[in-house]
Amino acid sequence: MDLHTVTEIARPRQRSDLPAWKAGDAWLAGGTWLFSEPQTSVNRLVDIVDLGWPALQIDEQGLRIAATCKIAELDGMTFPANWAATPLFNQCCRSFLASFKVWNAATVGGNICMALPAGPMISLTAALDGLCTIWTPDGKERRVAVLDFVLGPQRNALAPGELLRLIHLPILALRRRGAFRQISLSPLGRSAALLIGTLSPDGGDFALTITASTPRPVRLAFPALPSTAVLHEAIDQAIPPTQYYADVHGTPAWRRYMTLLFAEEIRRELEGKDSA
Ligand SMILES: Cc1cc2nc3c(=O)[nH]c(=O)nc-3n(C[C@H](O)[C@H](O)[C@H](O)COP(=O)(O)OP(=O)(O)OC[C@H]3O[C@@H](n4cnc5c(N)ncnc54)[C@H](O)[C@@H]3O)c2cc1C
Repeated sequence: MDLHTVTEIARPRQRSDLPAWKAGDAWLAGGTWLFSEPQTSVNRLVDIVDLGWPALQIDEQGLRIAATCKIAELDGMTFPANWAATPLFNQCCRSFLASFKVWNAATVGGNICMALPAGPMISLTAALDGLCTIWTPDGKERRVAVLDFVLGPQRNALAPGELLRLIHLPILALRRRGAFRQISLSPLGRSAALLIGTLSPDGGDFALTITASTPRPVRLAFPALPSTAVLHEAIDQAIPPTQYYADVHGTPAWRRYMTLLFAEEIRRELEGKDSA
């Protein structure tokens, strides 16, 4: 859609080219959301794609995902064989309500900054202990865990003029075994519940990340795989029945039911008793 209030587009090629932030500015990444509805408060777009950040960088510390990495690029990447969490990348990339066109334009950073409950890049990076690097307007950086970056539907931790630069996934998280469950009302619909469980390589500590059924990600950690009852109780403590998300993609009661069901399926899968 035409953004009829936009009168200027900046295309910085390096950090020093970034214009001083002013009211009416918006960062432009893939544009799949920005151009999908009217943005009457936006007058200038600052396109961050020409900053030329390498999309994906692997080293002994883990994975650095540039905010401008496309969903299709992330899905097409080959990861080291000893990263047991690898299947989660494809599973999360395929959890968009999105056409081929959106999938090839939308960015990981744009998805996280949108902070929608059904943001699958939020699910992925929150479950894998993602740490955001943020460029601040004074030329410095600050770091925030993905879990703390997403504050609620379309609310993130960025102050005006701050730019999400990258998300770092630590090697220890990437070596954990994962189990994934997702549901939406229609086959390619927006996620109503998306849960990821991870277990340490020695079969020790367990973490469960609940997204889509809640307004923001919820993370539960246990020193070992809990029993069914302990897990159920921990979820109920963390998310009272009235705190599940409500929108056209699912009622709170159904989201709670699916959350508890998926949590138990994940627990059993990682315990080695059930795979489906
Ligand atoms: C048909 C369709 C289906 C969709 N399905 C889903 C879905 O299932 N789940 C979902 O979560 N979303 C969905 N979306 C919304 C959106 O397309 C995605 O969230 C997408 O990942 C946004 O990425 P983008 O690069 O296109 O962001 P843009 O549209 O470019 O930007 C989105 C917002 O984030 C800001 N932003 C972008 N990058 C940065 C950055 N690095 N630092 C600071 N701010 C930044 C922008 O200023 C803007 O406010 C869908 C959209 C469409 C049109």
